[in-house]
Amino acid sequence: MIDLWYKNAVIYCLDVETFMDSNGDGIGDFRGLAHRLDHIEALGATCLWLLPFYPSPNRDNGYDITDYYGVDPRFGTLGDFVEFTRAARDRGLRIILDLVVNHTSVDHPWFQDARQPGSPRRDWYVWSKEQPKDLHEGMVFPGVQESTWTWDEVAGAWYMHRFFKHQPDLNITNPEVREEIERIMGFWLQLGATGFRLDAVPFLIEHRGVKPPEDLRDPYRYLVELRNFLSWREAESVLLAEANIEMKDAEAYFGSGERLQMIFNFMLNQHVFLALARGQAEPVERVLRQSPKLPLIGQWGTFLRNHDELDLGRLGEAERAEVFAAFGPEPRMQAFGRGIRRRLAPMLGGDTRRIAMAQSLMFALPGTPVIWYGEEIGMGEDLSQPERWPVRTPMQWNEEANAGFSTAPPGRLVRPVVSDAQFGFQRVNVAAQRNRHGSLLEHCRRVVDTRRACPEIGWGVCKVLDVGAPTVLALRSEWQGAAVLTLHNLADAPAELRLPPETGPLRRLLTDAADDAPETADRPLRLEGHGFRWFREGCERR
Ligand code: MG
Repeated sequence: MIDLWYKNAVIYCLDVETFMDSNGDGIGDFRGLAHRLDHIEALGATCLWLLPFYPSPNRDNGYDITDYYGVDPRFGTLGDFVEFTRAARDRGLRIILDLVVNHTSVDHPWFQDARQPGSPRRDWYVWSKEQPKDLHEGMVFPGVQESTWTWDEVAGAWYMHRFFKHQPDLNITNPEVREEIERIMGFWLQLGATGFRLDAVPFLIEHRGVKPPEDLRDPYRYLVELRNFLSWREAESVLLAEANIEMKDAEAYFGSGERLQMIFNFMLNQHVFLALARGQAEPVERVLRQSPKLPLIGQWGTFLRNHDELDLGRLGEAERAEVFAAFGPEPRMQAFGRGIRRRLAPMLGGDTRRIAMAQSLMFALPGTPVIWYGEEIGMGEDLSQPERWPVRTPMQWNEEANAGFSTAPPGRLVRPVVSDAQFGFQRVNVAAQRNRHGSLLEHCRRVVDTRRACPEIGWGVCKVLDVGAPTVLALRSEWQGAAVLTLHNLADAPAELRLPPETGPLRRLLTDAADDAPETADRPLRLEGHGFRWFREGCERR
């Protein structure tokens, strides 16, 4: 029996900066986070993914790092980090850290050294003496970013940057750089991490602007190297990749089990929102039918929202327009011409039934669910914030000042707390929902609990069922002779459906409805608008 813990994990993602401030300086910190682990444990999550907390000039929310071996003093010390990991371990929570090694900050001592004439570190980054032809191509943030190469006066050369010009790309074909990246991983594994969310993987492994040596020509070879290092150092550690790829490229990233263990399913994510916009199951069914069979160790990371914009770049133009019209019609709600910078609850109009259905649906999809902090209580966004910041506001703990996030004067908070009439902290907060029957938080706890009791979804083979109702997504996940069946009505009108005749007796696991009438395959089944049901099929085995 091979123990792949991540196959049945529930991952909770947060930014230390906005979760809980313990010292009243207006900035979240590790001590604050350690005090709030009860909330994450009670939700039922089994793993935390922390956004970058390393020393950084913070021009890109910490994704611009100046020291890979430290904690930014704003968030505490390495000692606080170790205390936090111990507290998390006590609660059975594993920890995944953001590994951002496609680029550093321009302020990183490596870059400052590399730009000096004659520096032995020059080759750690990607340079061009001549003005590059692809100066304006391949920008990650079109409209905000001006180019992908910038002239450096000190170096007398252009440096390449897929992201902002303050984020020069590292040259991973340089063996010293690869060795340093392994040293960084080894350091944090030793301090209690169980793996890494690997930032910007397609850009990390590409060879733009460099000539790779013969043995590195295949860019995916580097994934094998990273994986080998991790597995020998710490057998249970994982790589969870940020790679917005098409289904046809999945094999290159997963390999036959020797490359990445997990990849965020961006393709499925975008089609879930298209399905929600249409009130039709077809877009999700389409992607699931296209999905290749993954190697045993391979797993998708499923999510609704994350810390970035809702990226719709893989939809057709007309499809993207549909999602924009439904969930982000105003220009201020959009970003980079491809995405929506909003949270789930406001996109779904604050309709608790619809939000609850969407969250249940995400947990029913094949893969490991990843929750963005605050989604479990239906937090809103702050569109007055620039770029991707509207969804990165402080966690709303209670109705006290600053939502209980900090005792600092409101003007000193790292970001303002959401305080509008519908989603403001006075109405939407953890304390108000903790013991309230019918709250979104209660619903999320039940969904997490049910999902953890259904290893069929994380481990098994998922099939789309035809139930004769186009608004209903019907999935059957089978593993080791047991099966879980989930039904989600994406439309606001009720739907009648028929289960396939070969469906066995059903035991209800989770439902939006109060009635307890038994379901059988030989009579039509009715779902209310945005209703959902989870069943275990056949005799009770678990
Ligand atoms: Mg603080």
